[in-house]
Amino acid sequence: MKHLIDPTDISVAETDEIIELALDIIANPKKYAEYCKGKKLATLFYEPSTRTRLSFTSAMMELGGNVLGFSEAASSSTAKGESVQDTAKTVSCFADLIAMRHFIEGAPLAASKVSGVPIINAGDGSHSHPTQTLTDLLTITRELGRLDNFTIGFCGDLKFGRTVHSLIKSLSARSNVKVVLIAPNELRLPGYIRHDVCERLGVEYKEVSTMEEVMGELDVLYMTRVQKERFLDEDEFDRVKDSFVLDRKKMSLAKRNMAVLHPLPRVNEILTEVDADPRAAYFRQVENGKFVRMALICKLLEWKNDPEHETPIHFETFEDKALCCSNAKCISNLERVPMLFRHTENGPIRCYYCDNKTRDNM
Ligand code: ASP
Repeated sequence: MKHLIDPTDISVAETDEIIELALDIIANPKKYAEYCKGKKLATLFYEPSTRTRLSFTSAMMELGGNVLGFSEAASSSTAKGESVQDTAKTVSCFADLIAMRHFIEGAPLAASKVSGVPIINAGDGSHSHPTQTLTDLLTITRELGRLDNFTIGFCGDLKFGRTVHSLIKSLSARSNVKVVLIAPNELRLPGYIRHDVCERLGVEYKEVSTMEEVMGELDVLYMTRVQKERFLDEDEFDRVKDSFVLDRKKMSLAKRNMAVLHPLPRVNEILTEVDADPRAAYFRQVENGKFVRMALICKLLEWKNDPEHETPIHFETFEDKALCCSNAKCISNLERVPMLFRHTENGPIRCYYCDNKTRDNM
């Protein structure tokens, strides 16, 4: 079975196939109007969403398929105490594919272990968001004309911004992509991405504390919102909430063909005065999200039972009852799932579900 839980669940070749198909869908939409006739996509959204949920719905409708699901946990049996795994098992009796967004990190991964149909992670807490990554890759392809040999600056909340984590992971497989991290200390990229992804895979990266010092180097500027809902400490949020704001003045320092991306929603980190700049690609990015999800749905249905396209096993895992994950929002601490961990090269033991460090289970 092919699931999309982490961006690395699809190889570079498979990712390129999805992007190629999205480009063909854009060029020949009529050709795909009945591609998913008789098929059903379930959208199980336990956390707010505008673009992701509606783009999945609209993608399936444009492919001639049907959509069922819920947009908040309160209207599902979760409110009666049903586990994520039981819900996934149940819904896989009704649908051909499931797109799941959850505030619990690792929930889509746990669901994929029991589901009878492919699971798409539509965002799990502050961990991953692989379909936003596909959206970003299609946008970069359309704006720059390539997915290698460029410099990308990530700005804002790199700690809780799941779209940043997933895109960096995916770009680590491309050649000569340089990464610039622009964030205050409180919002630095998590250690597992800096060490396990950037350092181990040789991604060239640097960390800076102002936008001005790097604007002129960037081919892509990836802006993000401070993820208020993920902060445990209100004071810490207040200190960083206006961290980095993109305005016309900063745009004047950038290359003439730099593309500005943002997964949206924006709060105040891009002033609306930037919207009219031809380099502002974030609303074009929204539309790309629908096309790339159309392509993903087609490909996952095609790959569903093809042994050539199994979900890869990235790590050897082990169970240890003496350990637990240090992340209070991890599925392993919130629902009954096997306590699985993985070793890292010269680094700490990490949780299989959310990549956080472990602690003793006392
Ligand atoms: N829409 C994106 C996400 O779901 C970005 C955000 O919420 O800031 O992660």
